[in-house]
Amino acid sequence: MKRIFIDREKCDGCKNCTVACMQAHRATPGTVYDLDLLDRKNEARHTIVSDGKGRYTPVFCRHCAVPDCVGACMSGALKKEPDTGHVQYDEKRCGTCFMCVMSCPYGNVKPDKATRSKILKCDFCKDDPEGPNCVRACPKKAIWVEEVEVL
Ligand code: SF4
Ligand code: SF4
Repeated sequence: MKRIFIDREKCDGCKNCTVACMQAHRATPGTVYDLDLLDRKNEARHTIVSDGKGRYTPVFCRHCAVPDCVGACMSGALKKEPDTGHVQYDEKRCGTCFMCVMSCPYGNVKPDKATRSKILKCDFCKDDPEGPNCVRACPKKAIWVEEVEVL
């Protein structure tokens, strides 16, 4: 399966990846030039964590081999896809219990800020044949996609 890898030494916190994620998942169609960065409906799926001293860590869903978020979801809204290995979310099945939010050891699932009625997590830009938009947007090559073997 494919996973996003990070090199925190290369990340300078520019957040180009964050804007790319927002654009890829924005609420209404449009170009990046009219993307409202303050609109909560356009929230990104990952975070760039700053230590306040100029060091940044991109934090992305690992699409874990045994995902705690899937194990915690009682309504079947989160599922590890057998063909890709990616953990995907079905909003229609979500019971808004946020057990997944509490279960992810890496903080990679969050309630959506706009409605607090669903969760947001990385979907690996599943509908884009070119793969995750964040990766293509990073000018430092601090994030990349790699094929990994899952045993
Ligand atoms: S949301 Fe968290 S627990 Fe679920 S697959 Fe991603 S990193 Fe793993
Ligand atoms: S685009 Fe690359 S360098 Fe910029 S914040 Fe994201 S990971 Fe870091």
